[in-house]
Parts: sequence; C-alpha cells; structure tokens
Amino acid sequence: MFCASPVEFGAEPNTHTCPVCLGYPGALPVVNEEALRMTLLTGLMLGCNIAPVSKFDRKNYFYPDMPKNYQISQYDMPLCTNGTVSLHDLAYPKDAQKNILTRDKEVHLVRIHLEEDVAKSFHFENHTGIDFNRAGTPLMEIVTQPEINSPEEAFAFLTALKQILIYGAVSDADMEKGQLRCDCNVSVRPDDQAELGAKVELKNLNSISGVRRALAYEIRRQTSILERDEEIEQETRGWDDVAGETFLMRTKEFAHDYRYFPDPDLVPVKTDALVAEVRHRVPELPKAKRARFVEQYQVSPYDAAVLADDLELASYFEAAAKHAKKPKIIANWILNDLQNALSAAGKEITDCPIQPAMLDEFVNLIDTGKISGKQGKDVFAEMFATGKTAAAIVKEKGIEQLSDVSAIEALADQVIAANAKPVADFRAGNIASLNFLKGQVIKLSKGKANPQLVGEILEKKLSS
Ligand SMILES: [Zn+2]
Repeated sequence: MFCASPVEFGAEPNTHTCPVCLGYPGALPVVNEEALRMTLLTGLMLGCNIAPVSKFDRKNYFYPDMPKNYQISQYDMPLCTNGTVSLHDLAYPKDAQKNILTRDKEVHLVRIHLEEDVAKSFHFENHTGIDFNRAGTPLMEIVTQPEINSPEEAFAFLTALKQILIYGAVSDADMEKGQLRCDCNVSVRPDDQAELGAKVELKNLNSISGVRRALAYEIRRQTSILERDEEIEQETRGWDDVAGETFLMRTKEFAHDYRYFPDPDLVPVKTDALVAEVRHRVPELPKAKRARFVEQYQVSPYDAAVLADDLELASYFEAAAKHAKKPKIIANWILNDLQNALSAAGKEITDCPIQPAMLDEFVNLIDTGKISGKQGKDVFAEMFATGKTAAAIVKEKGIEQLSDVSAIEALADQVIAANAKPVADFRAGNIASLNFLKGQVIKLSKGKANPQLVGEILEKKLSS
C-alpha cells in the first residue's frame, strides 16, 4: 500500500519485504495510487458517496504482526461512504433459493476505507512465526450496516459483492487465497426489543460457506445463552471450520484504545482527478447485464442470471449470440450440454474447445434442418472432443440430413406407389398409417430425410 514490495500468493515467508513494510526507522510511505483508484472504482460500482478529500491515519497498537506499532488506516475521512449491494436470488446458497425472506434486498454500506494489511502469524507448537510478506498489502475494508438478518443473507451478500469485484477487475476475491476476508459481527435480540444485543465479532472465516456455518452456529449459541437468562459477553471469537464451532479469542477487557491520529508522513488525497480516471472503468454491473440479456436476447430471467453469474460465461454467450437468429436456443445449449461437457471434462469456459461462433453455426445447422436435433447431440459431443466445426463433422461423417424438397417428394412418390393399403387406410381416416409411411420414406433415404419435412410432404400428397 505504501511501498513497492510485490504481492504473491504462497511465496516463501519474508521474501517480499522492504524497509517501509518492515517499519524500519526513517523509512517513508508513498501511497499506491492504483490502490486508491481501485477503491474509488469499487465505490462507484457500489453507488457510494466519494469523499472529495480523504486522509490516512495511524491506528496505534502493539502487536507482533505490526512492525511499526501502528497501522496506516483511515479513521474519520474514508474514501467512500454509503452505497449498497443488492442480493439477487442466485447469490443465495442453492438450498436456500426457494425461501428467500426479502427478494432483491439491498444491504446498505457504512463506508469503504483503505489501509495496509498486517503480517500473518503462524502458531506452531511452542512458538509463533511471523510472515511479513502480507504486511503492507493494500486492504480495502467494506463495512455494512447491521441489517443482514440470516446466515443465508450473509452468504448472498458476500457472493454478490465478490461478483461485482470480479466484474470491475478489482480483485479475484478468492477467499481461500485471502483475497477476500470477512469478519462478522453477530448480535441476537428478543423479537420485541429494538436495540441490538451484545456484539460478538467472528474472525478467521476463510470461505463463504464457512461464514454461513459459523453464523448459524453463533446465532444458536447466543440464542441459547439468552434462553437461559444469561448475558452475552462482548467478545471476539474464532471459527474452527473442522470442529464446526466458534471459540473465544479475547473479551472486551482487552479492547484496544487505538488513539488514531493523522499520519504526518502522508498528505491528504484529493480524489476528483482519480475519480475522473476510473469512471470509464466502471463495467456494466451484474444486475444491468441480467436485465439486458432478458431484453436483448429474450432469455428467461433465470437463464440470464445463470449466464451473468460468471463474467466469462456471459462473454462467451454474448459472443455466440450476438449475430444469432435464435439466441435463446444458444443459451439452452450453453446452460445444458456445454456446461455438462465442461464439468465432465474438468474444464473452465475459458478453455472451452468450442469457439462461440462455432456454436452459432451449429445451432443454425439444426434450425435449418441440415441435421436433426438427435444428430445434433452427437455432432455437439464431437465438436467438444475435437474442436472441429459442426459443418466439418457433418461432412466427414456424412450425416447431413436430407432436406431437399424435390428429393423427398421423389421418395414419397415411390413409397405411396408401393403401399396401396396404408395409403387407402390413411385416406379413410386412419391417421396412424401416416407414421408407417413416414417411416418407409426415412428408411428409403437411409435415415437421412428430415422427419418433419417428410411428414409435411406426405400429408400434402395424400390429401390432394
Ligand atoms: Zn515493502
């Protein structure tokens, strides 16, 4: 945040450090402008108010993970305030999508500020090791209002937020790599009580599903304390993902008095020029993309949500659907056969062997009757396996469907001439005979005649 040490996940401990992030006397911080831009961009995406002037403050405390004995953070003049994250249905855990309490709920934010991360402690059996690689990494802290009402809403909030951060290329927001971390404050209260109960902070949450489980556990724990007429202590608890329970880390007796004051080494930041620079980086957001997919491509709201859920999948769909006559059918192939094939092959959409334009061409082959829907399944599998175009596969395998009207008419004439009885039956009102005759024409074509066309031609001939 204030030096040029690189950030690399999984690097050897204490290899990405310098005098600034190790807090050597006399080393001076210089603000990372790109971190400012990313935070402002996030503020714009989330509809925040952007402060015209913002400053950095020292948050003082003594702990081994902070070599300077203060952390540079923001106190009373954060970069962004207010803003919202809206929770769409697909952001909820799958098993909770049918019982959403408040649809399209907007979670309001308090603020977004920027600070430097601290070092990471590793606790071994008899000692603790500290990795300073993480110290000094830019950390954007997003604080919500206390209005998330269930573990499922917390899950949806993190999922929706993560999606927006990915859309804006602010972060990959991978919790397992520590790119997105989350502390949760949990309070419970009786139904008839307005003020929030004692605040318990949960730390060490490293997956979105872990957050959901930790919250469910903690709500149960606090509820049972209240039901025993006991008091909930204000404290900080950790989450043991393996045991599936929270544990006490510290109580408020150890609450810090941070004694914030403006960092004298850093001048306040005027944001207007930076905001002007990032305004064009604001992408079309997931909510707008979902609405546009429904409008522009006539896909269902659900399909639009699934497609827009993953930015890469959305781009793939758009590339295939842009010039397509039937974008809805393209969406169906992507959401069913393509996604199944990708997951069976353990592939991501970014290494999909079928290029988007190939999918459009393939759908057109079925649509124009060159191949049947059933043949389409085989052609599709072959496209996925080989990366060849549908036209090349159809030609190679000689499976092109016969859709030439005069050729089918000639076959139909032969079948009618050779099957006097079924023809008479049909004319006498036995509709089922038509299927028999249809089968004969298809057989005569060696299975290649377009069944729909055969039916139409036979019917026309027999009723004239
Ligand atoms: Zn450094």
